[in-house]
Amino acid sequence: MTQLQPTPTADALPRRFADFATLGDALDYAAQGVRGFNFHDPRGTLVRPYPYSELRSDALEHARRLIARGVKPEDRIAIVAETGAEFASLFFGAVYAGAWPVPLPLPTSFGGKESYVEQLSVQLRSSDPKFLFYPAELAEMGGEAAKRCGVEGIDWESFAAEAAPEADLPAASPDDICYLQYSSGSTRFPHGVAVTHAALLSNLAAHSHGMHVCETDRCISWLPWYHDMGLVGCMLSMVANQVSTDYLKTEDFARRPLAWLDLISRNPGTSCSYSPTFGYDICARRIGSQSRVEERFDLSRWRLAGNGADMIRPDVMQAFVNAFAPAGFKASAFLPSYGLAEATLAVTLMPPGEGIVVDLVEEQRLSGAPVDPSKPKRYRSIVNCGKACRDMSIEIRDADGKVLPDREIGKVWTAGPSIMHSYFRDPEATEACLIDGWLDTGDMGYMVDGYLYIVGRAKDMIIINGKNHWPQDIEWAVEQLPGFKSGDIAAFSITTPAGEEAPAVLVQCRTTDEAERRRLRDEIREKVRSITGMNCVIELVPPRTLPRTSSGKLSRAKARNLYLSGEIQPYELAA
Ligand code: ATP
Ligand code: MG
Repeated sequence: MTQLQPTPTADALPRRFADFATLGDALDYAAQGVRGFNFHDPRGTLVRPYPYSELRSDALEHARRLIARGVKPEDRIAIVAETGAEFASLFFGAVYAGAWPVPLPLPTSFGGKESYVEQLSVQLRSSDPKFLFYPAELAEMGGEAAKRCGVEGIDWESFAAEAAPEADLPAASPDDICYLQYSSGSTRFPHGVAVTHAALLSNLAAHSHGMHVCETDRCISWLPWYHDMGLVGCMLSMVANQVSTDYLKTEDFARRPLAWLDLISRNPGTSCSYSPTFGYDICARRIGSQSRVEERFDLSRWRLAGNGADMIRPDVMQAFVNAFAPAGFKASAFLPSYGLAEATLAVTLMPPGEGIVVDLVEEQRLSGAPVDPSKPKRYRSIVNCGKACRDMSIEIRDADGKVLPDREIGKVWTAGPSIMHSYFRDPEATEACLIDGWLDTGDMGYMVDGYLYIVGRAKDMIIINGKNHWPQDIEWAVEQLPGFKSGDIAAFSITTPAGEEAPAVLVQCRTTDEAERRRLRDEIREKVRSITGMNCVIELVPPRTLPRTSSGKLSRAKARNLYLSGEIQPYELAA
């Protein structure tokens, strides 16, 4: 097996965020060193080292090709590509040409070809790019989406073979838009966020500062580059910090999740790697009760195990520690964070070394209804997502905009230099969430002594008879029943045929036996009743039915729409 490149330390470059006015400056600087990206195959073998110097020269050539093809500053350049040299060089090429790269998702296993082409088409219509780049193997779907939208589709390999005549590159300034980042689409169709160079560099500097990233760090990532956590946290940040990074493709991680931990183990220099909760979950499950974990893995140098992008689950994180502590994994490496595309990436970060800290909150307080002291007390663990990143501010506000004191639950608002310029060509959506420089994140939470605790998304909340029910509480409780795992359950609110609001719970079920399905349904109903105190609509659905966003998050809003439109067909079960 090919040896991994050792982390170079001889040329240890100083980090100079203050000197970078634009993203191009950061790559210009990183290209002077010997670090870069390393792309690995599904088995974790290094197949392509890609130093920042090579990335820069490829990107400059692409910039000249784009200009030769008539690209002007502010044109959008849509990119569909796997994690690899093509994506990176085209992204930076567009930036050097003054155009705005627009990373778009790759197909996922959910929904099939037509649904992918349609999603791509909607994103192409909203970003209105001059070109859509895609790899040869996606020429059919990419070409079809481009044709539907009147966009010129280009197979990136043929583009790379074109001449790159000399051209003057436009000078960028910090307030120019650098790229468009689509939100994940958990609660609505993904929205294109316009990120300026200044917002990007400010967020890169703030999260690198908060995480104590230093020039001896080395990162490993399988996160997709069309999602902010992968793009900003694990690609652009690494360039700006002059840190080397090893990549596994997202689909390779999905097939063999433990390849992630194998790669960390084989490369003793690795100190940072991030994932939403589901990545830790899947690894802990795969390893199960396997003995001799310590013989296969060495996770002792993993200093920053970042977690964010979705609810952080203390039970899952504990299961990961239990599974991998014998391999040297330290619970203190967990680094909870909270962020969103509209804030470039990170809004809060836990200080390194503090790990997962939970707050136990009485469930009645989370319901928003008056507390009934006669009811038995039950508690929910809520994870501390850390403190506001440097230069960012957070306020918790009630529905009337009043700022709430510590421990009171309200809408999370944030302000600071990382906040988006706007949603691209969507002034209405921008004005709805960006008010007087403050961003309404759409999330609910509370503060304690400067630390932020996220309770859930306002849009996902199920409100019945004035009482709030958090879908994740229902989902996590059902998961505890034997035979279910995280991601199998989606809870949302529907109007019943009798005209009443009720929670509906869709549960992916693997058993083929009808009597067993009925038994499971009744068991789930009882479980949900014990939490919500009411009868709920429980539907068992086939495995792999519940929709996920391209970044792997459950989309309850989409599950609800598909259920109500009959596109999700539950098993028919007698009462
Ligand atoms: P869309 O806005 O398109 O509906 P999305 O909000 O999931 O999708 P992203 O910007 O990728 O799109 O994700 C940000 C969201 O992820 C946050 O608003 C929040 O709901 C959730 N999130 C991020 N970090 C955390 C965290 N630590 N705990 C709980 N939720 C989190
Ligand atoms: Mg969002």
